[in-house]
Amino acid sequence: MTLDQATIDRLAAAPVAPAKLLINGEWTEGEGEPMPVLSPIDGSRMTTLASASAGDVARACAAARAAFEDGRWRNMAPAARKAVLHRLADLIDRETLPLAVLGVRDNGTDIGMAVKAEPGSAAQTFRYYAEALDKVYGEIAPVQSNVLAMIHREPVGVVAAIVPWNFPLMIGAWKVAPALAMGNSVVLKPAETASLTLLRLAELALEAGVPPGVFNVVTGPGRVTGEALALSPDVDVLVFTGSGATGRRLLQYSAQSNLKRCYLELGGKSPNIVFADAPDLGAAAKAAAMAIFRNAGQVCVAGSRLLVEASVHDRFVAELAEAAKKMKVGNPLSLSTQIGAVNSLTQLEGNLGFVADAAREGGEIVIGGGRTLEETGGWYMDPTVVTNVQPQHRLYQQEVFGPVLAVTPFTDEAEALRLANATEFGLAAGVWTSNLSRAHRMVRGIRSGVVHVNTYGGADITVPLSGTKQSGNGADKSMHALDKYVDLKTAWIQL
Ligand code: ADP
Repeated sequence: MTLDQATIDRLAAAPVAPAKLLINGEWTEGEGEPMPVLSPIDGSRMTTLASASAGDVARACAAARAAFEDGRWRNMAPAARKAVLHRLADLIDRETLPLAVLGVRDNGTDIGMAVKAEPGSAAQTFRYYAEALDKVYGEIAPVQSNVLAMIHREPVGVVAAIVPWNFPLMIGAWKVAPALAMGNSVVLKPAETASLTLLRLAELALEAGVPPGVFNVVTGPGRVTGEALALSPDVDVLVFTGSGATGRRLLQYSAQSNLKRCYLELGGKSPNIVFADAPDLGAAAKAAAMAIFRNAGQVCVAGSRLLVEASVHDRFVAELAEAAKKMKVGNPLSLSTQIGAVNSLTQLEGNLGFVADAAREGGEIVIGGGRTLEETGGWYMDPTVVTNVQPQHRLYQQEVFGPVLAVTPFTDEAEALRLANATEFGLAAGVWTSNLSRAHRMVRGIRSGVVHVNTYGGADITVPLSGTKQSGNGADKSMHALDKYVDLKTAWIQL
């Protein structure tokens, strides 16, 4: 779609009504104190967000449970459920720009990226799982001839989804769409700083014909609303994207409550590895800048560790720095902006803390390192490149989730592989080389869910996003995601 600045500006000027909770198809105030929603663009107060208490969450989960038990969704003919999800995708498409603008005002992603990555990808995801839902078959097992052993795939029941703020619609859809497609009920908990578009999504779902109670949304603080959801005895499966610290807590809540299954996507510290024999070092430098700086580094698969062969290190870093300097940081609603705002002041301060620690530990700051555009009242940071980062440094080991790139040289393939695997994470990776055998060796040797070769960050709904090591478990996207939302049941019939 072609975007025009005047339409974006008009949409951005619209006031936003105080946001409520969606429980059992009804919009309700939360029992907690409403929370202010501050826009990262200029720090202004946009609206308020309802804060769901433990009681509100219990009501949402009970509504989801009741909707599941009476079969109003799971027993609908697959073709009818499919039509509803297609209708939802059409409604998202109808609202692409309003949804994208609302999301940008809430979370700070640049509008050019948000249009495709948020409503664009959410619509595509709902269509993909709408099409998938009547292509999932049961099985007949090859057992002895006097027995019929049938393996059914059944919906799990109530799915709780707790999602983050960087791509709320995209990540929300990755969880809600397959969960609904398989006939489950859902209670969704968006992040405090990116709830507005997901509330609108739920409104559109009702309009599309998802029955009341099947898709509920509770907003509020993670430690109150999220915790109550994760402790709920009514939740069968919990799906999450966010930090490792919260992921650990969720497993504890599961153990303390009903042993609900937890699927966690916990981010990364993904290595982008450039060999001297890369087909085009200039193109690799530009791609390396995009890999870390798009969405201000607030991307779980960001290429946040650049490993470069020593013989081309200086030249490569200089080209990368040049490319980064050309990326315009600014108001995310402006079409000329390439790097929008950092989501919150807390996040910005955390990013700056990483840079300060890196400098103290011996890293050299090549470009950036500081806050910018402070006069706007918003939260912006210059793209930052730090060289000489060593495996024992904090910047090497911990996810910043900001526009900060750690650069480390290596001398040969064995060292590159050792450095690549030297963190607790294992989400994504990139390898740049024209040596085919080396490319395959690296793909085999790197422990991560995806390895990009001579590109970085390519993705599609048809391929899984899955973490290894402490980046998480289970897969979002693709047909593999469906496994999280079904139980296997065997019917063993004596003939
Ligand atoms: P980030 O550091 O990227 O904000 P978090 O893991 O803190 O990541 O947040 C991701 C999601 O987890 C958000 O929706 C947040 O509200 C929720 N959350 C945070 N803490 C908890 C908690 N203790 N229990 C349940 N959910 C939580």
